[in-house]
Amino acid sequence: MKVSYSKVDTYNTCPFLYKLKYIEHLEPKDDLSPSNPLFIGTACHEGIETRDVEKAVESYKSHFDEITSEHEVEIEKIKSIVPKAIEQIPDCEFYEYKLDVPDEFVGYIDGLVKVDEGLYDLLDFKTSNNISGYKTSPQVHIYKYYFERLTENKVRDLYYVFIPKSAIKLNEDLSNVKEITDELKSRDIHFEKIDFDKQQVNYFFARKSLLEKETNFQKRYSSKCNWCQLRKFCKTNGADRSELK
Ligand code: SF4
Repeated sequence: MKVSYSKVDTYNTCPFLYKLKYIEHLEPKDDLSPSNPLFIGTACHEGIETRDVEKAVESYKSHFDEITSEHEVEIEKIKSIVPKAIEQIPDCEFYEYKLDVPDEFVGYIDGLVKVDEGLYDLLDFKTSNNISGYKTSPQVHIYKYYFERLTENKVRDLYYVFIPKSAIKLNEDLSNVKEITDELKSRDIHFEKIDFDKQQVNYFFARKSLLEKETNFQKRYSSKCNWCQLRKFCKTNGADRSELK
């Protein structure tokens, strides 16, 4: 069975959610709000990879037919933080490096910085302030394991690289945009160095193995239900399918 890190992570969070997403292929309609974190994260990745703020802005704009004043706010935020990311994140030899093992695993390493011949630092970019939430994630451990298994190279250090989001809430009349962009300009990119832990890789394989044998896909209620994209479908058997793709 071919899995990604996200598939096993989703199964870990809730087997029923895994079934809805990956077996029944139910997905909520695209969130086209100006602050969609997926669009902003992708734009930041584009800016870091191309070392070009305008490319980040183009990436963000490409998701919308019309750019309103609310979109302009998000563009100002991108213009405030991406130059800092370009300045502080070292240029990588590889971006979006594909890890592909037939019938087993697929994943993409955000960035690989060459430190010596055959030796790299592995970066995973997160557009988030939730450092404690991510630093225990097994993702970079799995990526190091597969990168070293699939190539002749070694990974020296692992980092989650946090591109900060503003902690200031935008006023409804958009009157505090400058305060927000000034705050973002004052923030640094945070590099969280992670010590490699083989136990994390073993745990991943144990969960993958459970997933392969799973037949019940039971609901696992937790605080994560509050952010579950498919919770409406989960809680009411006759969910409104117009909210799904
Ligand atoms: S709402 Fe909770 S229990 Fe239901 S699918 Fe989502 S994560 Fe699972």
